[in-house]
Amino acid sequence: MAKTVTATMRAVAVTPMRPGSARQVELPVPTAARDTALMRVLEVGIDGTDTEINSGLYGEAPPGSDFLVIGHEALSVVEAVGEGVSGFTRGDLVVSTVRRPDNCPNCQAGECDMCLFGRYTERGIRGAHGYMGEYYAETPTFMVKIPPALRPFAVLLEPLSIVEKATCQAWKIQERMLWEPKRAVVLGAGPIGILATILLRLRGLDVHVYARSASDTLQGRILTSLGARYESAADHPVAGIKDELGQIDFILEGTGDSEVAFAAMAQLGTNGVLCLIGLSAGNRQIEIPSDVINLQMVLGNRLAFGCVNANRRYFEMGVQHFQQAERQWPGIFQRLITRRVPFEDFTAALDRRPEDIKTLLTIAPA
Ligand code: BGC
Ligand code: ZN
Repeated sequence: MAKTVTATMRAVAVTPMRPGSARQVELPVPTAARDTALMRVLEVGIDGTDTEINSGLYGEAPPGSDFLVIGHEALSVVEAVGEGVSGFTRGDLVVSTVRRPDNCPNCQAGECDMCLFGRYTERGIRGAHGYMGEYYAETPTFMVKIPPALRPFAVLLEPLSIVEKATCQAWKIQERMLWEPKRAVVLGAGPIGILATILLRLRGLDVHVYARSASDTLQGRILTSLGARYESAADHPVAGIKDELGQIDFILEGTGDSEVAFAAMAQLGTNGVLCLIGLSAGNRQIEIPSDVINLQMVLGNRLAFGCVNANRRYFEMGVQHFQQAERQWPGIFQRLITRRVPFEDFTAALDRRPEDIKTLLTIAPA
């Protein structure tokens, strides 16, 4: 009897909660079933969540597995489609969403980013393998097609989707009144902070970014070229920004430092809104001026809200904004990609360096 040979592929996996456990694993190449597509991964973006997972602070293996393939920001190309798949063909560029639904009403309505029961999974993060391997299988519902012209930077679509959701939700929330925002503050100048600045500039706001790094860095130069102001938080502490700037209509907190998040609440202008998108993995307790914050929130109709993940609607908005922003600032997205690392050196890719904006792990040549 002929022996069946199963093709194998390499991937990067961790043992969740064990610090520094990232390693190469060999896995069978998934087969495209009737209703799925087989995706060949081109490159994977690394973010703070990946670094935290590899530090043992976050992450969960799929049921029955003792490891988790990481990676949730991937640009891939369709390798094969099952006969039940329509709308995609071999060669299409794709970015897949991250979260997969449970049976709650929100998930069932296509909004698993608003999951109510909390039994969702997230590819590469929680209970489902991610994209940091040569291939993965996917259902069309979670695949977003990428126009070929966006190939050089489309890997940034997942982080962009996060800020698409944050700004969209804020603007939607503010329909509670007449709101004509003029000034925004972005806290943090990593990929999320810069992508948020791009969206806010497209909306015509005056944007001020505060972050840890000094102002003469690449981050600072990129932000300045977008027409935003960039200040180092060392010289301009968050606690003083409303005195410095006056009325602040919108604040996006992207550092994940809970102390900064609470300090930001006290900086919001009248009728202003603060969106928290930075994850804090710690368990810190801090003292805050609670009376002052409470009084200001009430007297100024101020509002703070948290925002996580993004459903495919926000990925689709991101595709539109990629095109719009490239027209306004040609080459802007490619400037965010500061390091490309070959697959073999995945440990170096997972190590954050101060000069990094976005690091990519190259899985396959285009
Ligand atoms: C991902 C989100 C995810 C969140 C929490 C982020 O890094 O971009 O998709 O929901 O982590 O796990
Ligand atoms: Zn749900």
